[in-house]
Order: sequence, then C-alpha cells, then structure tokens
Amino acid sequence: MRKKIVAGNWKMNTLPKEGVELAKGVAAGRGEVCDSVEIIVCPPFTHIAQVVEAVEGKNVAVGAQDCATEVKGAYTGEISAEMIAALGCKYVILGHSERRQYYGETSESLNKKMARAYENNLMPIYCVGENLEEREAGRHFEVCKQQIEEVVFNLTAEQFAKLVIAYEPVWAIGTGKTATAEQAEEIHAYIREVLRSKFGAAAEQCPILYGGSCKPSNAGEIFSKENVDGGLIGGAALKAEDFLAIGKAF
Ligand code: PEP
Repeated sequence: MRKKIVAGNWKMNTLPKEGVELAKGVAAGRGEVCDSVEIIVCPPFTHIAQVVEAVEGKNVAVGAQDCATEVKGAYTGEISAEMIAALGCKYVILGHSERRQYYGETSESLNKKMARAYENNLMPIYCVGENLEEREAGRHFEVCKQQIEEVVFNLTAEQFAKLVIAYEPVWAIGTGKTATAEQAEEIHAYIREVLRSKFGAAAEQCPILYGGSCKPSNAGEIFSKENVDGGLIGGAALKAEDFLAIGKAF
C-alpha cells in the first residue's frame, strides 16, 4: 500500500501569527482525517519554527518550500537544508513550477538541492509538470519524463525510497482550472511507468501527488484514481477547513 499524502504549500502567504493560527486549525481537525493519510504543511521559512511548535504531537508534518543548493557559507539570503532540518522539517518541496519559472530553477540546481535534502534526512517532494503550450502541443508526457530523468534518475535506490513526486500541470496551478481525474490518472500512470523503467518494483511505492486547483469539491474524484496518491494543495491549503476536507476526500 502506497502512502497517501495531502500537503499544503502556503507559498508566500501568512504572517507568523496567521500561519500559527492556520497550523493550529489543521492540528485541531487532524483527527477527522484518516491517521494513515500523511498531512503536511509547508509554511514560509520565517515561521517554520513556530508552526513546528504549534503542531507538535498532533501527527502533522512540516515541510519547507525550497532549500539552498549549497551546504553553508557566503550565500546571502539563502536557507540551507541543514537549517530547515534543524527546525524540525521532515519534507522539502523542490522544483515547484513557480521556482522554475520565476527563479530560474534548472535540473542542475535541483540535483544539488536534492543532494542537500537527502544529506539532512529531508524527504523531497519533487514537482514536475507541463505548461499550457506544452499540453496543447501534446508534449506533456515528454516534459514530465525529462524532468524526472534529469533529476530523479540520479538518485540511489535508497534515496528514491524516500521520494515523493507531485505532478502539477502549470496551467492548473492557481487558475481554477483542474485536470480531469482521467487526465491526472493518465499522466500519473505514465510517470510511474517512467519510474519503473529505472527503479523497478520500487516505483509502486512512490507516492505521486496531484497539484493544481485541487479543492474539497474535486479532490474525491481525483484521489479515487489508482495512481493518484494525494495532493499538493496551494490556495485551498490556506483555510484549515478546506485543507482538512481535502484530507477527508480519501
Ligand atoms: C501549488 O502551487 O502547488 C498548487 C497546487 O496551487 P493551487 O492549489 O492554488 O493551484
């Protein structure tokens, strides 16, 4: 049985006080979601420590939204994987399309970030997905394959066993447009096939999350698909009630 996961990517939203309130709301309702579903919140760096404290002992994991390529030193403004891990994070989102698009994230930088994450026992949530133009040109399979081959294929079997993948079609992120459950299943199954070609049977254990305007009203249908193991949630993760309702969709 693959792990089921619902992860909230708060992006650059919430001030510390609001973030703590949101985290407390998630922790308070966590019991309504099946224990076997991993619930993760990913706040901005500035209040990770307070959020970790707010959810302590409540079966809610905390993740960061990114980490530095380098270990430590003269990299002004950067936050290392070691710092994140020291605050109590278990996960780190890497390769989110907003970072690829606005901050020039490449497979080269992502290979370094993945290495830093594993060195610090952080589980990466590695994001892949095509933009609208690529989808319309029917190139979504090849785009996802390339993003996986250039980064995930460099992992050892031991590292791969700790990886979570998020398929996030860029055209569905924050747009209100959602991939249909069939579109999600089609590409999730394809991603698993690509993973199987490199890692064999271990691919069956890798959680593949869907992300892109996932909300309480559509999560149930999307999560019912065989190769969809949960969601990476943006907008709807900013309200504890909606986020938990998505968790309950399993
Ligand atoms: C995301 O950014 O990871 C995301 C899925 O955002 P939204 O749910 O708002 O589309």
